[in-house]
Amino acid sequence: MEIHRILHTLKWQLRLRLLVIPLLTMTACGANTESVSDNTCGVVGAGKDQARYDHYRIYNVQFDNEEQIALFQQLEKESDSLTFIGHAREIGQKLSILVAAHRVADFADLLETYKLQHRVLTYNFQEKIDRNMREVLPEHIDASKYDWQHFFHLKTIYDWMDRMAAKYPDQLSVLNLGSSTQGNDIKGVKVGNNPANKAIFIESGIHAREWIAPATATYIINELLNSTDERVQKLAKNYNWFVFPCVNPDGYKYTFEHDRMWRKNRQLFGTCRGVDLNRNYPDHWNSTGSSSDPTRYDFAGPSAASELETQRLIEFIRENVEKEQIKTYIALHSYSQMLMFPYGYTKEHVSNYDDLQEFGKKASAAIKAESGRDYVSGNLYETIYPSSGGSMDWAHAEAGIPIAYTFELRGPPDSQDLFILPAVEIQPTASEAFTAIRTIVEAAAEKGYYK
Ligand SMILES: [Zn+2]
Repeated sequence: MEIHRILHTLKWQLRLRLLVIPLLTMTACGANTESVSDNTCGVVGAGKDQARYDHYRIYNVQFDNEEQIALFQQLEKESDSLTFIGHAREIGQKLSILVAAHRVADFADLLETYKLQHRVLTYNFQEKIDRNMREVLPEHIDASKYDWQHFFHLKTIYDWMDRMAAKYPDQLSVLNLGSSTQGNDIKGVKVGNNPANKAIFIESGIHAREWIAPATATYIINELLNSTDERVQKLAKNYNWFVFPCVNPDGYKYTFEHDRMWRKNRQLFGTCRGVDLNRNYPDHWNSTGSSSDPTRYDFAGPSAASELETQRLIEFIRENVEKEQIKTYIALHSYSQMLMFPYGYTKEHVSNYDDLQEFGKKASAAIKAESGRDYVSGNLYETIYPSSGGSMDWAHAEAGIPIAYTFELRGPPDSQDLFILPAVEIQPTASEAFTAIRTIVEAAAEKGYYK
């Protein structure tokens, strides 16, 4: 009788377990409407409305004559199925274009008809995104799990900053510039608090899909606090650092939850969304290399500094540039491996062009020595493409910050990954970026910029 009862109980326990396991699995992998980033499920945001890029191809085309350039300028205007990474501008230029699956035949025919030199860099872009999403740790993990071998949600980055503030209360404090368009905080940190120090400002993540930028920003924060390298310790001691890893938090969240390729903020304009915040600054606003069309990736906004995110940053810099003696402004982007200084809106030279050119060259050489990677240095207008309303131009010309750079981090200009850099490259990319910053700051100090 006793044995019979035990057997009966065991049978029920087993049945319950069989029932419970699939239920739990469902909750973790797709039935959940919250953002899901469990590695076992494979896809961040599973269960949400998610853009997909199956069989999208990346073409790298070269323009050899004016006819081809005019044709591709027309093509970019006409089509929302082709994502241009830059605009067709000049003979000899190479341009990457992400081509939607249903346009591949059509596009290949155009290349053939007009005899454009080209390469296919990637045949199925979704594979890159799927791989990348498996490198994201779940949103609600403990901040002690933060590392530079994975990518992280906005919440985890902010939790990690709070954790660092609790761990290093004398060296680091968390700053909040206020909320974004959709009500997310724009948070950063100040590392170092010697009032005699000059300050360095690092802006990162203004373009949502460039995930390597926030990862690099947190790497720099961590190095400033923990590095055993004497040169880094000196930097941490002699300067105060303002680091804002995600200045476009709405866009960044959107890349995890809905579209990995989103770039702008999430402001609504009728049927479409988004202002390119790095075209929205009030310095020669919308004069070149930006668009007045809200459907475009480089939409400058309805007016200069129209966006809350731009206003918050401008307000902070204006309030602190004198008080905190901010002498250096670094904006982190990807990709193309470039170290660029003002201006973006004109090829006219800034007053300290020779110095910025020299520091940039030194920084490129330091990266080459560290990792073997080639980073091109020069003014933004001539190095990547003309663009107006950028934060760097504003910081230099309007806020009067003499040392200003925009970094395009890995990969190379003909990258097969575009903005989807593998997580294994976070550490070396962040390290070479920090080496470049250190080199620039040391060289500028030698020239008396921080006296
Ligand atoms: Zn960018």
